Amino acid sequence: MSLPVQYQFSLRPFNTFGIEAKAHAYLRVTSNDQLRAVKEDAALNALPRLVLGGGSNLLLTRDFPGLVLHMATTGIDIVGEDANATHVKAAAGENWHQFVQWTLGAGLGGLENLSLIPGSVGASPIQNIGAYGVELKDTFHALTAFNTDTGETFVLDKAACHFGYRDSVFKHAFRDQAVILDVTFALPKQWQPNVQYADVAQELAACGIAAPTPRQISDAVIAIRTRKLPDPAQIGNAGSFFKNPIVTAEQRDALLARYPKLVSYAQADGTFKLAAGWLIDQSGWKGRSIGAAGVYEKQALVLVNRGGASGRDIAELAAAIQADVLAKFGVMLEPEPVFI
Ligand SMILES: Cc1cc2nc3c(=O)[nH]c(=O)nc-3n(C[C@H](O)[C@H](O)[C@H](O)COP(=O)(O)OP(=O)(O)OC[C@H]3O[C@@H](n4cnc5c(N)ncnc54)[C@H](O)[C@@H]3O)c2cc1C
Repeated sequence: MSLPVQYQFSLRPFNTFGIEAKAHAYLRVTSNDQLRAVKEDAALNALPRLVLGGGSNLLLTRDFPGLVLHMATTGIDIVGEDANATHVKAAAGENWHQFVQWTLGAGLGGLENLSLIPGSVGASPIQNIGAYGVELKDTFHALTAFNTDTGETFVLDKAACHFGYRDSVFKHAFRDQAVILDVTFALPKQWQPNVQYADVAQELAACGIAAPTPRQISDAVIAIRTRKLPDPAQIGNAGSFFKNPIVTAEQRDALLARYPKLVSYAQADGTFKLAAGWLIDQSGWKGRSIGAAGVYEKQALVLVNRGGASGRDIAELAAAIQADVLAKFGVMLEPEPVFI
């Protein structure tokens, strides 16, 4: 099989920060067979690999000296059902938001709170994407992946993915080793709305909706996100740049004593999640910039490329924020995007 590999390829259009970086080699993967062909090509197989989806959770701090595998496979199908759920499978290269809209169009609820998250279906399990009280794992059924070391294709169920807060097995045991080919979701037959997030409840109330449909929740989430988050097409960003830190009840109580307005959320296991955006805001960073790397005016958790910033500029800004938050609150912020 001949592979349409391109060399010295600019990744600028393919990362939502809009950062200029070149891939030594680049392949737009339109069939899973191409991955097997890469494995059989001695020269390509010897290169370091980076799997790329929508580039919305990446910080490119340098040119990539290997092969970028840009997943562009397509296909969405209802593949089965059981007593409780309808199973829908989507190829890795499908756009996440368009996939969510497809499920709603098919009359299937369950993914509506995750509307408008940028990126691809294939990347969605990597950090167990989440928003507005719902995480991918809530409706995840199984995935198929290709092991780039062994050339084998394998299936993982939910337990095997070890999903956690913005975390999965793909950030640990399978890191840099697996290409997710497709993901199957189990969408509930007895759908229940999830409006536990105040923003969503308020948006629906403002529209006079008391018993929302999945589509109405999706529309509410889209409206909220459009107001709050910068559109990468207008200003480069990767959404939330830091995870919300998890602290013990003792740490949270000590912080609350010093900062009565501390924003924190109790977790089921007795720990507390702190609002990283609040910590950054209180450290005086909201709206500030270092050169072309900035902190978004409306949401301190979002770092932005104000035009011409390099990945290193963004990384330096992130490090300065981490240092200030650590000095003030004794909490180390952990970045959410993958640094390349
Ligand atoms: C404006 C904005 C808002 C956002 N809001 C949210 C939010 O609410 N919740 C949330 O969780 N995230 C959010 N994000 C982050 C991002 O959208 C998600 O993490 C998304 O799943 C990343 O998908 P992607 O295809 O762009 O991945 P990429 O950025 O292309 O890749 C991210 C990581 O996944 C790996 N990867 C990608 N595809 C595959 C594959 N097929 N197989 C194996 N590895 C793969 C890459 O190698 C990389 O390590 C937001 C981002 C932006 C820009």
